[in-house]
Amino acid sequence: MVPTERDSPEPREQRESSTVRDVAPPGTLERRGDGVSPGLGLGPAYVVDRREVNVPHTHIERDAVDDEIKRFRTALRGAQDQLETIKGRLTHGEHRQILKAQQMMLRDPDLIQRTEALIKTDLINAEWAVSRSVDQIRETLAKASVELFRERQFDVAFMGERLITTLGGEERDAITPPEGSVVVAHDLNPADTAQLARYKVAGLVTEEGGQTSHTAIIARALQIPAVVGVDDLLAAVATGDTVIVDGVHGLVHIRPSQAQIDALELEVERYVAFEQEFQKEHALPAQSDDGETVHLRANLALDEECEVARRFGAEGVGLYRTEFMFMNRENAPSEEEHYRSAKALLQRWAPHPVRIRTFDLGSDKQCPAFATGEVEANPAMGLRSMRLALRRRDQFLAQLRGLMRAALHGPVQIMLPLVSGLEELAAGREAFDEARAQLVEQGMPHADHVSVGVMIEVPSAAVIADLIARHVDFMSIGTNDLIQYTLAIDRENDEVNYLYEPLHPAILRLIKITCDAGEKAGIPVSLCGEMASDPRYTWVLVGLGLRELSMQASAIPVIKNIIRSSSLDEMQALAAAVLDCETAVDARRLVMQAISGRFGEHLQHTAGMSLDEDQQLAAAAAERLVVEA
Ligand code: PEP
Ligand code: MG
Repeated sequence: MVPTERDSPEPREQRESSTVRDVAPPGTLERRGDGVSPGLGLGPAYVVDRREVNVPHTHIERDAVDDEIKRFRTALRGAQDQLETIKGRLTHGEHRQILKAQQMMLRDPDLIQRTEALIKTDLINAEWAVSRSVDQIRETLAKASVELFRERQFDVAFMGERLITTLGGEERDAITPPEGSVVVAHDLNPADTAQLARYKVAGLVTEEGGQTSHTAIIARALQIPAVVGVDDLLAAVATGDTVIVDGVHGLVHIRPSQAQIDALELEVERYVAFEQEFQKEHALPAQSDDGETVHLRANLALDEECEVARRFGAEGVGLYRTEFMFMNRENAPSEEEHYRSAKALLQRWAPHPVRIRTFDLGSDKQCPAFATGEVEANPAMGLRSMRLALRRRDQFLAQLRGLMRAALHGPVQIMLPLVSGLEELAAGREAFDEARAQLVEQGMPHADHVSVGVMIEVPSAAVIADLIARHVDFMSIGTNDLIQYTLAIDRENDEVNYLYEPLHPAILRLIKITCDAGEKAGIPVSLCGEMASDPRYTWVLVGLGLRELSMQASAIPVIKNIIRSSSLDEMQALAAAVLDCETAVDARRLVMQAISGRFGEHLQHTAGMSLDEDQQLAAAAAERLVVEA
């Protein structure tokens, strides 16, 4: 984080404490965070503390402004060069994109204009101006309610740190964690994270970050057990302390006792055996023991997630979120960029299908290319997703043209987000026709037919799924939004998120309506919300009629194993029983009764919570409802 003048009254020294501290605090500690990359790791801590950067604050004379701006521009180039050098050292080509994003931020006109304006108007030195403009940009990003966007604030901060150290004539040393160590950090910048591929570290723990932070994405890609979002971590760990990282349950054991280490080793053995068991099924289909096949695909947002998704056995991409392509840049991507990105994805995944969702921006997912300065009173129900695409027709058409051209290289499926009714779908279809006509006019080769489908994530769309099904090639249920809109719950709001319940009877009915409509129309129905990644719901979803599930890739082996060890009959019987339940609490109880004996270990290894905890949560939600009723 780049400190502001408010929290950094004195210039402070940048620290990287990868050396042993004088006195290691005694005693065993346990810290909880977000398990973002499964697995168990044990090793000596390698502490990286880069939180504090020296930000000199000085006023400059008016006639020194030009020189200061020149110094700033030289630093921009210097920081670009540093990143270029690091990129050249990387062995994993796919991590380069993360560094490219940092390089793009260094070219961000908003950053450059803000900083130069501050130097000119406030007569301050470049370091101070960078620190202030980075803080302003971060403030805007921090307000986004979507995690994906909120977390970009850390990337902006890292870019700012690099720029400030470069202005000071320094270059940040690369981290060099010893093999087998556990990297413990406040946060790792993208350059550090990308370099982790070179070291065989046992685990990764950070104070910052979430599921979509670069640290999490890279940790998953490299299969390094990782826990992020751990409060007060650096105050508790010294380099050399033994640390256990439990990426499954989101736990960190600091200076564990011998008994804990022994227990962990046992657990690791079981975990490895469990993983090996699943690995045997890698090339096998997710087929129930009575012969019903379910296609398991990956949800992706960045190219660097592809390799690991393939390793986990994904049969193609069920949801590619193109929002990332629009972030950290001033202009929307061109037709050519859309074309190249989709073509690369198709080539990587051939012969499997790749389902690309057109940009799902607006509301809290703002990007500079679409900024209007207008504040919407109710953005979640405002100009977002398809509605925004129809308003920003040029960008929408550019994306469609790129995708139609890419369709020559493989089975691309184009998915429209947040469609609420047939009028929006028809307007979307018209845009396809227009994009096609433009390609014909330009003489640009493209596929005559592309598969077009919609996300079912607004209750109105689910209710009229039979009507929608007549006009599309597939439907994909987005339970993240469907639950939010059906139950009128803002997931980010702590006051109400205990009501966020996938097994609510209304949700189960909407899923069933959509599956039935798809079956009747003879088109595939998939589910790509988080619910698909959770093994507690696999039986219910398959039982309700889903034959395609798209999920976090790391969940695929466990979910495949559950399906292969079950019969369609028993899954359908459970689905029928939960559809009869009057409350989610009853439904959850039934689900747990049916699966916990059979798949207790599967749930322990993936759901990030024990069965006890699951039942406690359900009971607590029920209790709260009763108390508050
Ligand atoms: C969903 O709403 O379930 C979904 C997959 O879309 P997103 O999470 O990107 O809004
Ligand atoms: Mg959605």
